[in-house]
Amino acid sequence: MFDATDNFSSRYFLNSIAIEKEVPFFHAAVSNYQGQVLAVLPGRPCLKCVFPEAKELSREVGAVPSFVQETSSVQVNEFIKYLTEDDFEPSLITLDFKENVLERSGVSKRKDCPQCQKKSD
Ligand SMILES: [Zn+2]
Repeated sequence: MFDATDNFSSRYFLNSIAIEKEVPFFHAAVSNYQGQVLAVLPGRPCLKCVFPEAKELSREVGAVPSFVQETSSVQVNEFIKYLTEDDFEPSLITLDFKENVLERSGVSKRKDCPQCQKKSD
């Protein structure tokens, strides 16, 4: 499942469906000069683990088409790596379009995540 929405309430809804149905969910978002991508895999940290609070987009700059395109390319790259690499590790990827820098950081499951707890009940 791919996130192509523009708000966190829809993203949290997709996240809950992905957890419930145990299907991979590839989140992507763009806000101002920043993009982010996160692969949510069954049993791994979910969107709500990484972003417990809704991080609504700023409308200051809007969605610059090239930023959206680059972010969605990284989103699809993560999906391809998930399909082709046995040791694929989900991480949070942030894209800084002002500095043209891409960073990858590890993610971990939150013990008090309401979405993950719902699944384990
Ligand atoms: Zn979670």
